[in-house]
Amino acid sequence: MRKLIYFLTLITLVLTIYLHADPYEYVMPVKGANRSSYSQRSFWAYPWGTSGHHKGVDIFAKKGTPVLSATRGIVVFNGVLSKGGNAVLVFGPWFRQHYYAHLDNSEVGLFDFLSPGERIGTVGTTGNAKGKPPHLHYAIGRLIPKLEGEKEWSKRFYQDPTPELNRAGRN
Ligand SMILES: [Zn+2]
Repeated sequence: MRKLIYFLTLITLVLTIYLHADPYEYVMPVKGANRSSYSQRSFWAYPWGTSGHHKGVDIFAKKGTPVLSATRGIVVFNGVLSKGGNAVLVFGPWFRQHYYAHLDNSEVGLFDFLSPGERIGTVGTTGNAKGKPPHLHYAIGRLIPKLEGEKEWSKRFYQDPTPELNRAGRN
């Protein structure tokens, strides 16, 4: 038991150092996308189908366009979801989870270590994006909720990706 605790502590420490290593790099998660590829009002749009609020940003691109990891991180989910279709969840810096959904195909494996800009898969229409224009649904979840600022409790568990996307997509 004691050995297990030591082991888990070591793993956590290594991951924490790895994820927080400087410099913090942020890459546009769809190759070639810019500010005109998504709406400034995409995040928290309401009403949004069966999802209530829209918890991410839809970045539109041709089917097959490479989807890139926005940050460094570790793949903690890689599978098929009813709404998200082919989806990948990457645990990145500051205890944030980057969610990439509706992929045409995923090219990563569970627990892969990703660098910023590394390929995750391609833009598609899987899950509830079927029949809609191809796009990446990209969301940032927070493991630690915001302590203040948002009236809606559920919104505290999401980070608005728009400012970082805007910085990355200035071209
Ligand atoms: Zn979406």
